Amino acid sequence: MDNEAALKQIEAWREEAGSVAILTDIDGTLAPIVPTPDMSEVSAELRELLRKLNDKYLLVAGISGRKTEDAFDLIGIEELVYFGNHGFEILRDGEVEVVPEALPYFERVQELEHRAKEELAPMGAFVEEKGITASIHYRNVPPEVGERSVEFVKAEGERLGLRVTVGRGVVEARPPVRADKGTAVRTLVEEYRPRRAMFLGDDTTDLDAFRELQALHEEGLLEEILRIGVESDEGPPEIVAEADLVVDGVGGVTNLLRALL
Ligand SMILES: [Mg+2]
Repeated sequence: MDNEAALKQIEAWREEAGSVAILTDIDGTLAPIVPTPDMSEVSAELRELLRKLNDKYLLVAGISGRKTEDAFDLIGIEELVYFGNHGFEILRDGEVEVVPEALPYFERVQELEHRAKEELAPMGAFVEEKGITASIHYRNVPPEVGERSVEFVKAEGERLGLRVTVGRGVVEARPPVRADKGTAVRTLVEEYRPRRAMFLGDDTTDLDAFRELQALHEEGLLEEILRIGVESDEGPPEIVAEADLVVDGVGGVTNLLRALL
């Protein structure tokens, strides 16, 4: 699909809002990337747009690599659904649920977090305590600290039987259970039964969501899908290559969401 066709589809979806799910990544998509994750912010304008979209559309959900409570705090709208920790946790109506298959790995993740704090934090890496997954951030430190962080978490993850992934300035360890933005998308589609769904994302982990939308479309669960790639200097090329529509940064996302109202 080219950009023009995608824009036409958005116009058509506006008239079918009751059958549309709007699923979106948060960091780099709704909030500009900043040196440390605690500095991130979703603008008041964007929050207002999301609130209006949630009134009009079947479902608006934020899907994030962060702790679910942090995803909620960033957007701060209680009526939305939040999937956090890359699909390991869902928050709605004030309640957080963890995927049951992941719980047996909780202590191993804690051990990796503890070791990373001893080994990497003194070098300047930021160890974010997230419960069922561990994230070590190295955006604002010299490149060699980033390399050391990736190497260390990969080795420890292997020793503890955890899965390790590398994103933009962050290396993460998690239980070896399939739970990612793709499973989050599938869970939401199977539960809320939209006929059309879009996902907006800027990073490698968002590709799981893109591919799951495609699978759901091929299975006939979704009549139409839209994969919105948010382009940035540091983003992976696949985000652009696999998108139906590419927008430029958080500003481009804001324009797109405005067009949906
Ligand atoms: Mg992102």
